[in-house]
Amino acid sequence: IPISFWADIDYFFLGLVVITYIKKLNFQLLIRTQEIETFNNTLEHEVEQRTRELKLLSEKLRELANTDELTKIDNRRHFFQLATQYFYTAKRNQTELYILSLDIDFFKHINDTYGHGAGDEILKLFAKNIKGMMRESDLFGRIGGEEFCICLQNTTLEGATILAEKIRSRIEHICYRHGPQELLHVTLSVGISGLCASDTEIFDIVKRADKALYIAKNNGRNQVQII
Ligand code: GH3
Ligand code: MG
Ligand code: MG
Repeated sequence: IPISFWADIDYFFLGLVVITYIKKLNFQLLIRTQEIETFNNTLEHEVEQRTRELKLLSEKLRELANTDELTKIDNRRHFFQLATQYFYTAKRNQTELYILSLDIDFFKHINDTYGHGAGDEILKLFAKNIKGMMRESDLFGRIGGEEFCICLQNTTLEGATILAEKIRSRIEHICYRHGPQELLHVTLSVGISGLCASDTEIFDIVKRADKALYIAKNNGRNQVQII
């Protein structure tokens, strides 16, 4: 047998070993690729889920930052932020804009007589009732303890006054249950003022509405006054 024959056999087996080895490598590569794909899919899914959770969390945080904890309506900061936008829009379009300043009458007496808890419940029911009377585009916020503010756009002084009077009357007729037998009542004073050409910020209207509210208080409370 010629030596070249044995050399060919050697090459043949060597080739066989190399091919088998490459096939094994390819197979391992395929397995790894599948593992990476599975890992990528899991990772993508997890990232999507985390992104969704973060979005929900940031919406919740924004809501918390904008909402009054007790009454669940806009807090002071958010109310004035939105009212400022309304102010500049009304000025640019030369449309009417009204601020209603609301303050519950003798609220300290309610707290002193029936307790802070009863006062809180009244504040909640008070806000819920007024919220139910608002249009989608109206703003309603809790400015301080028992002080609230409403901002109305696309209405007239007559419209604003009718709404204020409706709110005042509704509040006067609400009964707040305290314990098994007692029913409490509160009244409300309201000051109204509208946008004037010389106003430069929303607080110019608010100041006049507060002055009107002061007059309502001095005139005997449970009434609406306009400046
Ligand atoms: P007026 O008719 O002049 O407005 O009298 P008032 O008693 O309502 O006014 P005053 O400003 O003297 O008192 C406001 C009271 O509101 C004081 C406080 O006891 C009460 N108050 C403020 N914030 C809260 C609150 O979050 N919960 C409760 N329960 N009471 C509050
Ligand atoms: Mg008060
Ligand atoms: Mg007050």
